[in-house]
Amino acid sequence: MPDTILRLALPSPLRRLFDYRAPAGVPRSALQPGMRLRVPFGRREMIGVLIEVVEHSEVPLDKLKPALELLDRRTPLPPALFKLCLWTAQYYQHSLGDTLSWALPVLLRQGEPAEARQERFWHAAPGADLNDPRLARAPRQREALRTLAQHPHGVAHSLLSKLLLNKDSLDLLLEKGLVQVEVRRSAPLVRHGGWLAQPELPLNAEQRAAFTAIQSGMYDFGAYLLYGVTGSGKTEVYLQLIHQCLEAGKQALVLIPEINLGPQTLERFARRFNARIALLHSGVNDRERLDAWLAARDGEADIVIGTRSALFTPLKNPGLIIIDEEHDASYKQQEGLRYHARDLALVRARQENLPIVLGSATPSLESLHNAHAGRYALLKLNQRAGGAQPPRFLRLDVKSLPLDSGISGPLQQAIGQTLAAGQQVLVFLNRRGFAPTLLCHDCGWISQCQRCDARMTLHQRSGELRCHHCGHAERPPRQCPDCAKVDLRPVGAGTERAEERLNILFPNFPVLRIDRDTTARKGTMDKLFSTITRGEPCILVGTQMLAKGHHFPRVTLVAILDADGGLYSADFRASERMAQLIVQVAGRAGRAEEPGKVIIQSHLADHPLLVQLTEQGYPAFAEQALSERRGAGLPPFAHLALLRAEAHKPGQAEGFLDEACSYAEQLQQELRLPAIELLGPVPAPMERRAGRHRAQLLLQSSSRVPLHKLLAAWLPILEAMPGGRAVRWSLDIDPIDLF
Ligand code: ADP
Ligand code: ZN
Ligand code: ZN
Repeated sequence: MPDTILRLALPSPLRRLFDYRAPAGVPRSALQPGMRLRVPFGRREMIGVLIEVVEHSEVPLDKLKPALELLDRRTPLPPALFKLCLWTAQYYQHSLGDTLSWALPVLLRQGEPAEARQERFWHAAPGADLNDPRLARAPRQREALRTLAQHPHGVAHSLLSKLLLNKDSLDLLLEKGLVQVEVRRSAPLVRHGGWLAQPELPLNAEQRAAFTAIQSGMYDFGAYLLYGVTGSGKTEVYLQLIHQCLEAGKQALVLIPEINLGPQTLERFARRFNARIALLHSGVNDRERLDAWLAARDGEADIVIGTRSALFTPLKNPGLIIIDEEHDASYKQQEGLRYHARDLALVRARQENLPIVLGSATPSLESLHNAHAGRYALLKLNQRAGGAQPPRFLRLDVKSLPLDSGISGPLQQAIGQTLAAGQQVLVFLNRRGFAPTLLCHDCGWISQCQRCDARMTLHQRSGELRCHHCGHAERPPRQCPDCAKVDLRPVGAGTERAEERLNILFPNFPVLRIDRDTTARKGTMDKLFSTITRGEPCILVGTQMLAKGHHFPRVTLVAILDADGGLYSADFRASERMAQLIVQVAGRAGRAEEPGKVIIQSHLADHPLLVQLTEQGYPAFAEQALSERRGAGLPPFAHLALLRAEAHKPGQAEGFLDEACSYAEQLQQELRLPAIELLGPVPAPMERRAGRHRAQLLLQSSSRVPLHKLLAAWLPILEAMPGGRAVRWSLDIDPIDLF
C-alpha cells in the first residue's frame, strides 16, 4: 500500500512545506487540501494547512512524525481564496504558511472550529403540561416551563439569565422529558421588504455616466478608476452599485483606509440598506472577526466592509469590489507579509471575474498610469455634488515672516476673521506632540534618541520626551546634559504647541485637537465630531486624521502650517504624498453653501510643484509628476524591490547585503537577465533605529518579469547564507516607503 504523506504549510518564515504522516486513525479519504492539522514542531505544536497528499517524501518514513489531529471535516478556506493566497505568497516571495496565517482570522490560526457558532436552544417539549403532577411541588420548574412555552422558537442558552430561567430547574425538566434542547446556528437574519432602507439620490450627469459604465460591466472582470474631487459623490455611486450587486443576489466587498473607520462612513452604508453587513477592522475582537469572516464565506453577509486585511475575506457569491481612497498608504502592510491590498484586490477581481472600482480624489500615480495605459477605465467626477464650490488656494510665503508656534501674522488675521464671521477653522500640521525637539540654547545639545538616529519629540502635556520611531520615552532633563546650563528650549511646533498657542490667541473660541494622542481613547473622536457638527465657531487642530473622509460643512478656512517637508525630501514619493494630503485636507472646507479658502504656509511658496498644484489642481500636478518619474525611470515606470537588513553590530547588516549583492550580480549573468539595477547597499535613511544598525539594497528594473525571476532564484541563496543569521532581513516587493 502506498504511504500517505501530508505536505503542510506551517506559520513559519521558512519558505518551504513540511511533511508529516497522517494522524492515527484518520483515513486518507478524510484529508483534503486546505484542511487544518495540529502537528508537533520542535518542542512546540503548530497548526498547519494541508497543501497536498503525496506518496513520497525526501525524509525517510521512520523519521516523519505523525500529525496530532485533523481539525476540519470540510476545508475552511474556499478554493478561490486559497488560490489568492498562493498567488500572494509567490508574488511577494513569502512563505505560504505565513501568508495563510496573515490571511486567516486569528482564531482559525489557533484551531477554533471554522463553522458558524452553534448554540443550544431550550424548548418546551411537545405536549408538556403545566399541570403535570410531577410539577405540583416544584413551582420554579413550573414557572420555567411556562416561560419556555411562551417562546415557540426556543430560548438561546445565552439568554437564559435575562429571562430569569434557572439552569438547575431546566436540567430537572429535561430529565422529566418536559423540555428539549436543540443545537443549531443562531437564527439567520430575515430581511423584510427590498434592499433599500432609504431612497437613493438622483444621480447627476457625471455620476450617472460613471454608474452606467460600471453597471454595464457588472458581470465580468473590469477595473474602473473613479477619479472624483472630494464631495463629488463617489460614495453615492458606490452605494448604487452595491444596490445592483445585491439585487443580483451577490455580495459586495468594500475596503476603506484605516483612518476612515469613523462611524460616519459605516453608518452611511448601514442606513442605506436592509442588508447584513459584516465588519472587519482593527476595532472588532477576534471572535467578531471570525463570525464576520464565516458569515461572508457562507453567504450570510451581504456587504463586507473592512480595512486592508479584509481583502482576504472569502465570499460565497462575490459580485463587486470597491477600494475607497485607493491612494491611501494604509493599504500597504509594512511588516511580515508586505502586501498591497489594492494591488491584490485587482488580482482577486481578475481571478474571480469581478468588477473592481478604485475611488479617490487624488489617485496614486500608479493607478493613473494604469488608466492612461488602458488597463483601467477612467471615470471622472469634476463637480461637487450638491453644488458646493471648490476651495480657493493661497500660498503664503513665510520666508521672512516670524512664526509664532508655527503660525504667521497674516494667518492669525485670517483665522480671527473667519471666527468672527461665525465659521470654523481647520489647522493642519502633520506632527504630533509639542515640539519636534528640545535644544540647549547655550551649547546646541538636542534631544536625540539613544536608540535611533532621530530626535525625540517633546510632549508637554504628559511631561515626556518621546521617540516616535521606537517608542522610547523619558522625562525631559531640567538642565542640559552636556553643559549643565538650564536654557533648554523647544524648537519647532507640533499639534500640542499649536493648540496651546491658538488657545492664547483666540481665548473666546474652543480649540479642539485631533491626533493620535487625543483620540487614543474610544469614543473621544465621536465626541469631538459631535461638537464640530453642532457648527459653532471653533478651531480644529490636527494631523492627517483630519484629512480623510469626514465632512466639516462649517469649516471655511483650512490652514496648512508647513508644506515644505514634501518639497525637499529624499523620498521620491514625498511630493505625491504632500499633494494628496493638501488636496484631501482642502477638501474638508466649504462643502456646503460657503466656499472655502486654503492657506498654505511655505518657505518654498514658489516651488513649481506647489504652484502647479494650487493653480491648476491635482490632475495637472499628477501629469507633471508622472512625466518626471518617467524621465527618472522611477515607479510606475520601473519596478522596485527593497532588501532591508538590520543588526546589533555596526557593519553586520552591510556585510550581509554586500554578499547578497554579489550573489545577485552572479545570478543576473547566469540567468542572462536584462538590466536590473542593484543600488547599494547603503545605510538606511534612518541608520539606527531601536538600537539596531540598518542598511538596504534596492533592486530596480524596467520590467517586472526579469526582476521576479531574479528574486525567485536569489531568495533561497539568501536564506542559506550563514551571514544571514546575525541579521534580521526582509524583502519588500513594490515598497512604498524606502525606509
Ligand atoms: P465623495 O465620496 O466623493 O467625497 P459623497 O458621496 O460623500 O462624496 O458626497 C458628498 C455630499 O454630496 C454628500 O453629502 C452627499 O449626500 C451629497 N450627494 C452625493 N451625490 C448627490 C446627488 N446626486 N445629489 C445630491 N446630493 C448628493
Ligand atoms: Zn548645553
Ligand atoms: Zn528611538
